[in-house]
Amino acid sequence: MPSDNVITIRTPICMLYLVRGNDGYMLVDAGTWGHYWPIRLALWRNGIKPSEVRCVVATHEHPDHVGVLGKLQAKHGWTVICHADGVDAIREGRVIIPETRNRLGRFCAGVGRCIRWLLCFRAMEPDMVVSGDTSLEPFGVAGQLVHTPGHSEGSMSVVLDSGEAIVGDLMGDRILPAPGPPLFGYSLDVLYESWRELLRRDVRVFHPGHGKAIPADKVRAWLEAAGEPTE
Ligand SMILES: [Zn+2]
Repeated sequence: MPSDNVITIRTPICMLYLVRGNDGYMLVDAGTWGHYWPIRLALWRNGIKPSEVRCVVATHEHPDHVGVLGKLQAKHGWTVICHADGVDAIREGRVIIPETRNRLGRFCAGVGRCIRWLLCFRAMEPDMVVSGDTSLEPFGVAGQLVHTPGHSEGSMSVVLDSGEAIVGDLMGDRILPAPGPPLFGYSLDVLYESWRELLRRDVRVFHPGHGKAIPADKVRAWLEAAGEPTE
């Protein structure tokens, strides 16, 4: 079960997460350009001052996860952390319509292209660009950042010592398109290997960017159903 140290910020578009450290908080993901006030409201509801948030991690470079990174950095001075393999799009303010595997994905990508203006975000320069495993200890959080590609090249997960991981769009337990892999992704093989990597690190609960928390047993069952090894 999710611990008290992970606070979910539910919005109609995506889920953001606040992680409680031993000296402040870490925000994971930054929604679209409209998510500044939902984030502020969530802080207020939880009795957290903006000055108590030390950093914000982007799980990946897609526009529904990086929307207000620039604003949070400029207004509150939070340290913005991104992965090296996705940072170019963030620096350029480039809206990526990702690769997809099927007809529903192509339809959604077409809709995305039509409403591209709704997805635009301010180009910004992250404070920290990471690549390999990166400890979150300097931010008072017991855990690390782990590169977990497959949905996008620059996808990474926040893996906490508590056995929880915040995984962006690496998976989803939703009716559409189906529970399991996301609708968008450049390689299922790479994606499944990222799942296995997190299972090898003893992740018990996966917090996705869209939808509810997923227990590890369910991820193993999805791998088995796909004819994939679970280890
Ligand atoms: Zn995405």
